[in-house]
Amino acid sequence: ALTAGIVGLPNVGKSTLFNAITKAEVEAANYPFATIDPNVGVVEVPDERLDVLTKIAKPDKKIPTTFEFTDIAGIVRGASKGEGLGNKFLANIREVDAICQVVRCFDDDNITHVDGRINPTEDIETINIELALADLESMEKRYEKTKKKARTKEDNSMEELAVLDKILPALEVGNPVRALDFNEDEQKIVQDLFLLTAKPMLYVANVSEESMADYSENDYVKEVQAIADSEGAEVVVISAAIEEELAELDDEEKNIFLEDLGVDEPGLNRLIRKSYDLLGLGTYFTVGEKEARAWTFKKGMTAPQAAGVIHTDFERGFIRAETVSYDDYVRTGSIASAREAGVYRSEGKDYIVQDGDIILFRFNV
Ligand code: GDP
Repeated sequence: ALTAGIVGLPNVGKSTLFNAITKAEVEAANYPFATIDPNVGVVEVPDERLDVLTKIAKPDKKIPTTFEFTDIAGIVRGASKGEGLGNKFLANIREVDAICQVVRCFDDDNITHVDGRINPTEDIETINIELALADLESMEKRYEKTKKKARTKEDNSMEELAVLDKILPALEVGNPVRALDFNEDEQKIVQDLFLLTAKPMLYVANVSEESMADYSENDYVKEVQAIADSEGAEVVVISAAIEEELAELDDEEKNIFLEDLGVDEPGLNRLIRKSYDLLGLGTYFTVGEKEARAWTFKKGMTAPQAAGVIHTDFERGFIRAETVSYDDYVRTGSIASAREAGVYRSEGKDYIVQDGDIILFRFNV
């Protein structure tokens, strides 16, 4: 499964956020595959559509799909030079698919800041420079190798060299590769370089409780937003301390608390959804008598590939996908009515699954 890694300087609220995630963790009974790695938190992906489907079809069970966050400890200035847990830290980031960077946007004199002051811009720079330096080091080595290959025009070495010529100057001044423009062919080459700064980045602005309901005047958040805009990244505003409290409450208590705060839903829900979107993930549903269930697929997947999310046998023995869109299902009220209305389709192996599809896979065992 794809995972988003949580990073940030010391004392910005990472552990608080990760605790909230672990407390919100799914019940292992429904997800036997769920990891037991203590650094990974598996949460349900909030999706109102699954609630609606459950109301309509009245299955015995409702099973949301899940998303994984990984806690990545220990970045400090100098990490790319192996300071602190530096190398381990970078290796751990290499393994995640997206980065959630927690940025301290709350004042609290009792909680020291590593650099003695709250300054989101400098904090973000500190981390992003470490990531850029790590990329720079590996790309400089790569450049020498690619240059040798380019002498004989081996493979796509010429094209790669051109991409590296674009990437290196950016990294040299500490800019992330994510902020650069590439055409489709270049994008493929970039993907194969496994760059830390090419990973999608979500900035998590950790604000005080008071700022939660209305952060439009929060200057720290504005700073974070400006940086995100400049490099094609996203921002989620949360209060980690509140999220940790919320995660301990039952649904009723949670609603009362949220109302008091003047917000619609936990910030964690927004964090989960944005991370999901950032990774280009979508959800399709299976609806039967026993259960209504949401499944995660990568947008662009064909029907057999999406079937493989449920079980590899479904992909191997794929015959066809019987499907109806979420809107058509809700409008018609059942599979039978959808069929009568002519909106229940039989799709073959080339069908590109759409977000919200309700699917029944037919397959040979
Ligand atoms: P980490 O070093 O990044 O993991 O930071 P922690 O999660 O340990 O948080 C550092 C301190 O900041 C702890 O004392 C937290 O209780 C506090 N903290 C975290 N989030 C918030 C927040 O949203 N508001 C306030 N006031 N304090 C917070």
